[in-house]
Amino acid sequence: MFRPLQSLFAQPRHKKTVSQDALNSDQQAIVETVEDCYLLAETQLGRRFPRPEINFKLRGKSAGTAHLQINKLRFNPVLLAENPQVFIQQVVPHEICHLLAYQLYGRVKPHGKEWQALMVKLYGLSPSTTHSLNTDSVAGKTYNYRCQCGVVPLSIRRHNKVQRQQTQYRCRRCNETLSRVQGES
Ligand SMILES: [Zn+2]
Ligand SMILES: [Zn+2]
Repeated sequence: MFRPLQSLFAQPRHKKTVSQDALNSDQQAIVETVEDCYLLAETQLGRRFPRPEINFKLRGKSAGTAHLQINKLRFNPVLLAENPQVFIQQVVPHEICHLLAYQLYGRVKPHGKEWQALMVKLYGLSPSTTHSLNTDSVAGKTYNYRCQCGVVPLSIRRHNKVQRQQTQYRCRRCNETLSRVQGES
């Protein structure tokens, strides 16, 4: 379970770690959660840690990434907007434990025993390596087409072009025009 550390909310914030333009409220909550997680880590481990740089420019299916050598966290703004609670409760502590493990132990396995122990000890989280996120919006849904060779997945962008009759796609191997597999939504 993730404890939001009510008693620490009143402490003064450290110097700004984000040099972005205006953050939306979800992003501000993440910046504050990062600070709360660091304060908890420092209290429990009895030492200071440098605060990471934070940005919200991560694309694709990952919720967040930790860049160990440069002490930086990147978060996915699309997934954050859709899953703010999962970010606060899971994604932020997960990524911070990567940075802390590097600060404490140097290069270790990304989800190895050092990282797992920090997840459990500091944040009371089960050390699972995946987030329970709905990634449909960024998952790159595909649509099945076929030619003589078999089934060919097309991206939604290409599928829409075919549907609007702007273009057709041919298989490079058999040169047949790809046609939609029937019976799919
Ligand atoms: Zn990880
Ligand atoms: Zn073909």
